[in-house]
Amino acid sequence: MTLTRLDKPVQFLKGVGPKRAEHLQRMGILTARDLLYHVPRRYDDASTITPVELAQVGMDVTLVGEVRNKGVIPTRSGLRIFQAVIQDDSGLITCSWPGQPWVERRVRPGDRILVTGPVRFFHGRQIQPREFTVLSRASADAPAEDPPGTIFSTYPAAEDLPQWIFRRLFELNLDQLLAQIRDEEYLPPRDRRQHGLVEISAALRDLHRPRDNARIAAARRRLAFDELFFLQLMQARVRHDATRERPGIAFTRTNRLIRALHDSLPFTLTGAQARVLREIYADMTSPERMNRMLQGDVGSGKTLVALFAMLLAVEGGYQAALMAPTEILAEQHAHRIGDFLRDIPCRLEILTGSATGRRREEARARVASGEARLVVGTHALIQEGVEFDALGLVVVDEQHRFGVRQRMALSEREPRPDTLLMSATPIPRSLAMTLHGELDLSTIDELPPGRVPVTTRLASPEDRPAILRELCRRLDRGRQAYLVYPAIEESERADLLAAETEFERLRSEDLAGRTLALIHGRLPGDEKDRIMRAFQQGEIDVLVATTVIEVGIDVPNATMIVIENPERFGLSQLHQLRGRIGRGDEGGLCAVIAGRAEGEETGDPTPTTDRLAAFARTNDGFEIAAEDLRIRGQGDFFGAEQHGHGTELKFADIIEHEDLIGPTRDRARALIDIDPQLSAPAHAVVRNHLDSRYGDRAQLFGVG
Ligand code: ADP
Ligand code: MG
Repeated sequence: MTLTRLDKPVQFLKGVGPKRAEHLQRMGILTARDLLYHVPRRYDDASTITPVELAQVGMDVTLVGEVRNKGVIPTRSGLRIFQAVIQDDSGLITCSWPGQPWVERRVRPGDRILVTGPVRFFHGRQIQPREFTVLSRASADAPAEDPPGTIFSTYPAAEDLPQWIFRRLFELNLDQLLAQIRDEEYLPPRDRRQHGLVEISAALRDLHRPRDNARIAAARRRLAFDELFFLQLMQARVRHDATRERPGIAFTRTNRLIRALHDSLPFTLTGAQARVLREIYADMTSPERMNRMLQGDVGSGKTLVALFAMLLAVEGGYQAALMAPTEILAEQHAHRIGDFLRDIPCRLEILTGSATGRRREEARARVASGEARLVVGTHALIQEGVEFDALGLVVVDEQHRFGVRQRMALSEREPRPDTLLMSATPIPRSLAMTLHGELDLSTIDELPPGRVPVTTRLASPEDRPAILRELCRRLDRGRQAYLVYPAIEESERADLLAAETEFERLRSEDLAGRTLALIHGRLPGDEKDRIMRAFQQGEIDVLVATTVIEVGIDVPNATMIVIENPERFGLSQLHQLRGRIGRGDEGGLCAVIAGRAEGEETGDPTPTTDRLAAFARTNDGFEIAAEDLRIRGQGDFFGAEQHGHGTELKFADIIEHEDLIGPTRDRARALIDIDPQLSAPAHAVVRNHLDSRYGDRAQLFGVG
């Protein structure tokens, strides 16, 4: 890596001594470049700043004023309240920090501060700041008046590094830093024009010295492009290693088994199934290794698609394996696949943890000899001692339930098999491309025809008796049902219904005489399996459960689900729960009984009602996912353990910058295709930017 001046330690910058350098390091700012990219997290201008005079009780405001006086006030209850009076052109107002006497040390009379918070009435109007920023300190020769149109920026700060220090550091150093980053522009003007992007140096200038909101947005867009591009560059490298580095298998398609399966189906494939199969076949018959994710709603026919792919592997002379997260799911797959294969000459084997002794040895021997062509199992498949004769394709069901290492374990054998990862929790394409840029994506966005859609009913606690009556009518017709609760025990949260307590109550009251079983995450695995099996076989009428039933099992005879306290569940989670019913021929009913609205207590207007309304409005998993992303924001998806590390985004917003995702990915892949190591002199700038800005992450991605 070639070091540039931007990679020098912050200590070489003006205004940074050893002490301050240490403080900066504690915030993760080690180099000049880190400081340059330490940009404000919010901006306020005249349109968002309220003159003191106009701040009325009940409003939530942002004000800018000068601190007149301050002090800590003790109260009879022992609570210490810090108060500061601030003044702007229009008047004076008291700011109050109950229980936060330490704020006293942060502000001085004469400081210009920005505060944000609600206006309350307490011996007159006062603001209780949620946030405050010292914009300038009287001593630091700041102007007394802000020129019109001033935008106030708030940097991420720390106790020993308040706002005004960042301001000061940028006053001293920004011009020089911008001149240096100018040399690292890697996008030619033509490409910038094409995507409507400003130069890197202009973007950073406008973020540190904001002139207007349009320029701030343009600056963010540019940094979002860079961020997406470099993230995808790392993912493209992983993809390159996985698919190009060593040759994969080019399967020969004879159609011997595929045709037989086609001919035996009592229905035709949906358009979406046919399309994703073409994508999968194209990957499999090419010499590059397949590394593909198949996503589609519950019941969209993924298993069948996987089976076609497995048969292609088998007719091409290889074995194929399907790995499921639980024993019951593995059995279910084996059972269904067995049905499809009834008249097709292809030997199926099941390998789970429960088979022991001689049976297990025999099964393993058939897998090792190649007598078994299709193998379905749990992670028993990746255990020590399981040998395949010629494993050509690995399918992983409910891929997010497996750790990265488990997923890799099967696909790292030699020769390296193709991989198909399946997910029944659809996420928007833009999100999938960013989170899983190393994979190719196939999407089934269509359900087989003739499905009776599930009806969703939003209900309140008063409706519970009527809902239970409907449930009993269904039980009388021989159907089964689920009752889902957010908690196991009552003590967990006073306001939540708990599965255990309700189980006891229902058993002796509303559902007396029915067969009920209780299932939750604290039961041992084999106990859970035993209960699920009994439910599957119709020995249990009603399953009282927590979200453990979320993934997996299909019981077509279960046609009703009641979800209590749905406000405790995410949208996608609710959709997964609803997916448990509606597999049968009778129309499914999903009743959600909302408790007290979430925001009532905290005053926080959490869009619970929005979420539930969206849930009731559509049965389409992709719409639900888009809505979930809109409501929860991308933060929940990025950085989550299941998706691996290093994907947190600071500038890019998946919704706002959606149009940049495709182009950055194509650009990243094209570059890695021609120069995987980025070793050509022409790519030195990109390489250097990658190393210095994303060095830690690049290592996580195995780049560098
Ligand atoms: P998924 O794995 O996506 O949840 P499955 O593969 O289990 O979905 O399919 C659900 C059901 O729909 C199965 O009973 C399957 O046989 C059936 N099925 C799959 N594809 C079609 C189709 N094109 N037309 C009709 N039924 C289909
Ligand atoms: Mg499935």
